[in-house]
Amino acid sequence: MPGRIVGVSKDAQGNPALRLALQTREQHIRRDKATSNICTAQVLLAVIASMYAVYHGPEGLKAIASQIHSRTAILAAGLKRLNYSRQDMPFFDTICMGVGESSAPVLVQAAEQQGMNLRLVEPGYICIALDETTTLADVEKLLKLFAGKDTLSFTLTELADEVNTDYPEIVRRESNYLTDPVFNAHHSETELLRYLHHLESKDLSLTSSMIPLGSCTMKLNASAEMFPVTWPEFGQIHPFAPASQTQGYRELFNQLETWLGEITGFAGISLQPNAGSQGEYAGLQVIRAYHQHRGESDRTICLIPESAHGTNPASAVMCGMKVVAVKCDRQGDIDIADLKAKAEKHSEKLSALMITYPSTHGVFETGIREICDVIHEHGGQVYMDGANMNAQVGLCRPGDFGADVCHLNLHKTFCIPHGGGGPGMGPIGVMPHLVPFLPGHGVVGLGEATNIGPISAAPWGSASILVISWMYIAMMGAEGLTEATKIAILSANYMAQRLDAAYPVLFKGKSGLVAHECIIDLRPLKKAAGIEVDDVAKRLMDYGFHAPTMSWPVIGTMMIEPTESESLAEIERFCEAMLAIREEAAAVESGAADAQDNVLKNAPHTAKSLLCGDWTHPYSREQAAYPAAWLKDNKFWVSVSRVDNAYGDRNLVCSCVGMEAYQEA
Ligand SMILES: *Cc1c(COP(=O)(O)O)cnc(C)c1O
Repeated sequence: MPGRIVGVSKDAQGNPALRLALQTREQHIRRDKATSNICTAQVLLAVIASMYAVYHGPEGLKAIASQIHSRTAILAAGLKRLNYSRQDMPFFDTICMGVGESSAPVLVQAAEQQGMNLRLVEPGYICIALDETTTLADVEKLLKLFAGKDTLSFTLTELADEVNTDYPEIVRRESNYLTDPVFNAHHSETELLRYLHHLESKDLSLTSSMIPLGSCTMKLNASAEMFPVTWPEFGQIHPFAPASQTQGYRELFNQLETWLGEITGFAGISLQPNAGSQGEYAGLQVIRAYHQHRGESDRTICLIPESAHGTNPASAVMCGMKVVAVKCDRQGDIDIADLKAKAEKHSEKLSALMITYPSTHGVFETGIREICDVIHEHGGQVYMDGANMNAQVGLCRPGDFGADVCHLNLHKTFCIPHGGGGPGMGPIGVMPHLVPFLPGHGVVGLGEATNIGPISAAPWGSASILVISWMYIAMMGAEGLTEATKIAILSANYMAQRLDAAYPVLFKGKSGLVAHECIIDLRPLKKAAGIEVDDVAKRLMDYGFHAPTMSWPVIGTMMIEPTESESLAEIERFCEAMLAIREEAAAVESGAADAQDNVLKNAPHTAKSLLCGDWTHPYSREQAAYPAAWLKDNKFWVSVSRVDNAYGDRNLVCSCVGMEAYQEA
């Protein structure tokens, strides 16, 4: 549940503040006991569904449902007149019936010729489902099809008059629902648009500034990449539509698989997993099936370095593996001696190593080949977490240096937007010996005989967004992709150099360089001035920036990844904000500013907190709101001040107001 519960906390001024409850402790603290991953929660889809309810409200939804049901009832009555017999059972939008083994395929084919897909559930047995886009004309068309002629001996009006659209009492809902005011206020397009824009304006997004989240790259989602998502040829295909109707769609998958295979050096790709974490799950299942196939099903130990992303141990546990932690050395690299000892100790039972490259410390580990060799010597498989592929595309390939399986976050490296929670795509690539075990899908006949079965409901996952990554790769080409990787690495190193004196860069490779991201150490700041990571993160909002990844993978640090998408000017602007904040902290350190009542501890500053009668703080309102010159021209105003995280986690009761309160208002 963490990351899925929206709870009510309060901000520094005591105003209510909504926040995701329990999320901070989930991956940072619980690690292998973690149960969820925020990115994977497909929040965006839930938000869209919620907006459907906001727009239609309880009455509107009921009207839609009633219409669907009454059209289905008319269809059922018509079919009965045409002597198709159906079991007399309650239905909502779907009716199923036996039509005879010889007629079924004929009907399905005739329907297809008229642009309708009927579902042949099993030989002789057909299902028809209607929705709110099905018109009475569609129902008539269907009935004519089943009648086998162009005219019907009855009219739809006749049928409508005689059907009973009431639900049997046992399934009928009597209670109220969607009573919150939000579902009862925005029922015109204008109102909904304003409501959405109001929510959007609270959000510090890429439209305002860079979002330099380490390992969770938020790069440019180019309009040209996004455009084809809106084409019905991709967006409106049912995952189980007949193969003959989806040739272009499948060609796109094939090309994307080939390209991703080329980029990573793998022989087979499965586009089924919907997120990186699901890719981890799929990949580990593939490894498990491989061991089982070789009669080594007791290989269940999974080695994972201490620095791993929280999803790694969580996925391993979910696959029934036992996690053994491998130490990291002072430079943040895997401690190879410890790895060897653990691999030796668990040799008989070693299933896999999960490793991120470049590491979550933002460094290209020079021991990567040796690490993979050690695992292979002991009969294990190497699972590579490919979330940091943005540092490799065109320069090196996991398949070449020893990985057996790797997931790619198409919603990081390959441009699918993931702000606000997906939808993501986490395809996996595998070496030839693992291809037979890649996920399959019974409904469309996907996969080899030994496949691990489906790991998603749809054979190609969130297929409609694959066009985004296809467009990205197609438009960039090999040279462009390689250039992008180089610029991403250059930008991260530029930032690391710019910030190093003010905030020491925690991990560097032997060359003194970082990969595509850098971790800056804020612990000295806490020691010297009592300024914490949170204070800097919140103060960045006053400067108009989204905070980098906080306290991960090391507590008290920030992980920054600029990516190739940010211009030098934007990178400079971010560095200047960080350096200015360091100066503000220095004032606290020297005693020039109060230890508690200062711009950092009180950040972020809302307009409401600034435009109040009696301003009591020892710094000016200008210092609070306009610490940098550019802000006068383009200021992002936060809507809540500092949120009380602990209070929010301890008070998990979300009390939604009822309709009564709304009516009074
Ligand atoms: C983002 C990320 C994941 C998880 O991917 P999701 O798509 O969010 O499930 C795993 N490992 C690393 C290193 C990541 O950055």
